[in-house]
Amino acid sequence: HREQLSPEKLVQALCQADDVDSQMSQLVQLFELSESERRLRHLLVTLFQEVFSEFFPGCAILPFGSSVNGFDIHGCDLDLFLDLEKTKTFQASAKGPQGAQAEEEAGPGPDSDSEDSILSDIDLTTATVPEVLELVAAVLRKCVPGVHSVQAVPSARRPVVKFCHKDSGLLGDISINNRLALCNTRFLQLCTEADERVRPLVYALRYWAKQQALAGNPFGGGPLLNNYALTLLVLFFLQTRSPPVLPTLAQLRELTGDGDQAIVDGWDCSFPQDTSRLEPSTNTESLCSLLAEFFRVFGDHDFAGCVISLKEGRALPLPSFLLSEVGAKLKLGPFNVQDPFELSHNVAANVNEKIALRFQHCCRDGAKYCRSLQYQRKSSKGKAWGLVRLFQPGVPEAGELGPDGLLITIPFTLMALSPGSRQQLCQARDFRRCWFDKVCAAVTFVLKDVLKCSCTGPAGEPLGQEPTEQGGGEQPIVGSKHPRSDEGGSLAVSPAKKKPRAEGPAPEEEESVSWSCAVWHRVWMGRRRIRRQLRHLGSPQPDAEQEAGSLEVEEKVSEAIIQQEGDSMGSEPLLRFTACAQVGSGQEDTRTLLCFTPGPQQGLLFQDFYHFLQGFLPRMVERYVGRAARGRQ
Ligand code: ATP
Ligand code: MG
Repeated sequence: HREQLSPEKLVQALCQADDVDSQMSQLVQLFELSESERRLRHLLVTLFQEVFSEFFPGCAILPFGSSVNGFDIHGCDLDLFLDLEKTKTFQASAKGPQGAQAEEEAGPGPDSDSEDSILSDIDLTTATVPEVLELVAAVLRKCVPGVHSVQAVPSARRPVVKFCHKDSGLLGDISINNRLALCNTRFLQLCTEADERVRPLVYALRYWAKQQALAGNPFGGGPLLNNYALTLLVLFFLQTRSPPVLPTLAQLRELTGDGDQAIVDGWDCSFPQDTSRLEPSTNTESLCSLLAEFFRVFGDHDFAGCVISLKEGRALPLPSFLLSEVGAKLKLGPFNVQDPFELSHNVAANVNEKIALRFQHCCRDGAKYCRSLQYQRKSSKGKAWGLVRLFQPGVPEAGELGPDGLLITIPFTLMALSPGSRQQLCQARDFRRCWFDKVCAAVTFVLKDVLKCSCTGPAGEPLGQEPTEQGGGEQPIVGSKHPRSDEGGSLAVSPAKKKPRAEGPAPEEEESVSWSCAVWHRVWMGRRRIRRQLRHLGSPQPDAEQEAGSLEVEEKVSEAIIQQEGDSMGSEPLLRFTACAQVGSGQEDTRTLLCFTPGPQQGLLFQDFYHFLQGFLPRMVERYVGRAARGRQ
């Protein structure tokens, strides 16, 4: 079963470390796969190998990606490459004049009828990728026990068959023409072996980028940096230190022994297979300072104006690069990182302008923070210090949204779901939709029940009731005696679905839900004080109660504020705003974006409320979703 690391445990462990360097080493220990997780992966690979050998004599199942490249984390996907080269040779020769003899020479395997029947339907040398993938999917569905949700995705840049392992919830991919990935996996591995600072630095930056919603979408796709691209960026940074921490690929090529020369898909993939030929680096920078330097360097880097080359270990200026043969083919974008082997491939070509800008912006913020004492020194007062504050989730700047409003992002990773319900959700046919609905129900609950706002759908239409987990009915809003004719006289708070998704949605179709809200009381002010008062008045085991029923406690806090304000409120609400929730922009982006637009002329007051919501809403949504999930079990 997947081992989970809660954000609370992470913060606790990091705060206890002695300095930033040990925080970074701790991070690796906390995130990396445990022995039992590795064993499970190994067993699965063996099982796949056995089953596939039955159908594809001579084939090999080879793991690549984060399960084996040294940057594994709990629950990372299992990337597998099905190598059918030998099977093709076998099939071709079996069909030829010496067929019978070839069959004998192919060694163990091809002696049952099953592979005859499956291979007799298809000629592997001429079959299209989708045809082979369908066959692989069929074998997975029918013959591999404990595997489900098998789906061929032939249209991806790297076509794959996706699957899920039932007992562990492990998600995996099988690809059939991805030999370059084996090479780059081995290259990343070599880098981790070459210098022990590589792993901690990459783990820290991967987690930072994930927290800032810049990278690490668990389902791939979308405009975020993927983990591979981000890792290459870190390796490049280490190549460019003075003296360098890592050699360039051109230098590695020089060190390659004759036996290790390799050309894959026409690209030179030669580098030494182990570190024995490498000189240890003479660079002595600490992890703490390398991380700070990473932010400083990339905070000012011109990503759009050059191409990051790990082969040469420098940023290539665009004009001359574009004249080269590979330069003419590379897809340029706001973020350009050249694959170290497939030189015409920009591994960050999917990154859009907004994310590229935000990456830079976040690097600058990171650099600024790293100059502070809070970063460099352990807090003696138990405050968050070092990496902990870097890892606090980031929210895009208001400016990035244009004039429409302010944004709060609710990531998928916030889920306080039990492994069981998380697995259920992952298996849902339309995962994004399912998660989005949960978040929307939670937002409705928090706005209406916890914060006692009145909300309706757009244009003042009274809305039909949508049952929520809490059964939220048409209860009167506590402390509100105001007629709200302008809101259709209804207190119902079901979000209005603007563009409901039809059956078989078009991928670019947007999903959005909006609320029109009025706030009648300063429910965002003095909550901490009231919480403390309630605790004094409260039950004999305040802590347990508080933990279990935090949503209820927050409701009571709002009620108390409303009571204290009493009659001082006017007949107009303090604030009006609309909130619009959207599924993240990438096709498989799992975040929910909540955009808030204040009514006219209430700028400053709304700013206060919004700043409060930034912290409060994601936390409450997490509680609500977690509780709803536990309630169902
Ligand atoms: P994680 O799964 O934890 O995000 P990963 O390294 O396994 O990390 P995947 O997205 O699963 O990342 O990709 C698996 C492997 O496929 C990578 O390690 C890399 O070898 C290759 N790969 C992924 N993305 C790209 C890309 N954009 N260009 C070239 N190769 C890629
Ligand atoms: Mg992976």
